[in-house]
Amino acid sequence: MPLSKNQEIKLHIDSVSSEGSGVGRYDGQAVFVSGAAEGDELLVHIIKAKKTYAVGKIVEILTPSKDRTEVDCPYFKQCGGCVYRHISYEAEKRIKMQKVKDAFLRIGHIDIPVKEIITANTERYRNKAEYPVGRTVNGVQIGFYANRSHRIIDAEDCLLQPAEFAEIVEIIRKWILENHISVWNSETGEGLLRHIYIRKGFVSGEIMVCLVVNGESVPNEERLIGELSKITGMASIALNVNTENTNVILGEKVNVLAGSEKISDTLCGVEIELSPLSFYQVNHDGAEALYKKAAEYAGLSGSETVIDLYCGAGTIGLSMAHKAKRVIGVEIIPEAVEDAKKNAERNGIGNCEFYCADASAAVKILKDKDIKPDVVLLDPPRKGCSKEVLSFVAEMNPDRIVYISCDVSTQSRDCAVLKSLGYEPTEATPVDMFPRTSHVECVVLMSRVEK
Ligand code: SAH
Repeated sequence: MPLSKNQEIKLHIDSVSSEGSGVGRYDGQAVFVSGAAEGDELLVHIIKAKKTYAVGKIVEILTPSKDRTEVDCPYFKQCGGCVYRHISYEAEKRIKMQKVKDAFLRIGHIDIPVKEIITANTERYRNKAEYPVGRTVNGVQIGFYANRSHRIIDAEDCLLQPAEFAEIVEIIRKWILENHISVWNSETGEGLLRHIYIRKGFVSGEIMVCLVVNGESVPNEERLIGELSKITGMASIALNVNTENTNVILGEKVNVLAGSEKISDTLCGVEIELSPLSFYQVNHDGAEALYKKAAEYAGLSGSETVIDLYCGAGTIGLSMAHKAKRVIGVEIIPEAVEDAKKNAERNGIGNCEFYCADASAAVKILKDKDIKPDVVLLDPPRKGCSKEVLSFVAEMNPDRIVYISCDVSTQSRDCAVLKSLGYEPTEATPVDMFPRTSHVECVVLMSRVEK
């Protein structure tokens, strides 16, 4: 008998899914339970019953898993950010290593050696936050989205963000109430304030606050600037104009209210400047560990030509430039390419070039120009690389491809394609850039099979 909605069952949790839910079996049917841990004996209420699987909610923990720990965040149950605050970090690392191994085996059909997960800082590690803003009858909601929803969980603090971010949010909350600032409603396309976007350079200490608004200006900006300027490290206060009815958070235009448009930071010894629109790794120490591993896989000796595809503000290529002859970076966001060029200049790095282009168009041009890279670095967004990118890269015949990704499903799929094009998946190293969440970064070395 398959499970039905509202049924209550006893369930043993055998494993944890790649999204972080506990998974048990009931008469052969998989049951997913969020907040459950491997080894838990639970009383579970079924909230969704499908033909092949069911979803349940914990009613009671009958016997707790030995992985369980005290939950230290009051928002953990509702918030869609962290999924692993109820288990030890050791258990989380084990789950993430397994997630990487499973993806390569099941999706890529690749039996690649997976090295021990590299970890950096685990608390208050994020250097960027994007808070949705909403309004209730008397108040303001600023916080995080609930799991798989656009319901805002109003949160005073988040243990993944620097402590100053909470102070900044409180200043803005007060300013919204005092000045009767309207908030964005996606159904009507009306309302001024959409998101609060904050970034911090962990080495420089510089902070950027950007209000994403459906308009060109905000009321009583002097008061806002005055209060925000009291925060140590405040370097940039700006408006990001987004008048489109879209889920994309940032618009293209930035109006600086105070300070400079950009903030600086240092990553792997490279001084960088960041505009609000440039991608920057959210975990500084994690990124340094990741780049170090990527550099080891790149195996540079000083004579190599390196292509850094999806280069953002150029950080990976720039961090390796002193060990290469030439670095060619490619990125689709114009502001990020400008940042990359300036970052090369301010660090006195003369052997890097950056181009603004779609990755597939760029690799085709580079191939037609007969550029022969020794190493290609791939660091695409979650959806991975297109087939064209992968085949053009393989046609350029580099010795090594170093593939970095925050989505191991698309990465393992792409590595399988590269394998069919003559590249052997040599080694994978997971890097825990996103502790307490279900996400894990992974860097893979693919080496050309000698013909
Ligand atoms: N390597 C960088 C950025 C990685 S994030 C770093 O470590 O910081 C992925 C980057 O790919 C983003 O900067 C994004 O703007 C860029 N991107 C997305 N689609 C692209 C495409 N089709 N062609 C080129 N770049 C793209």
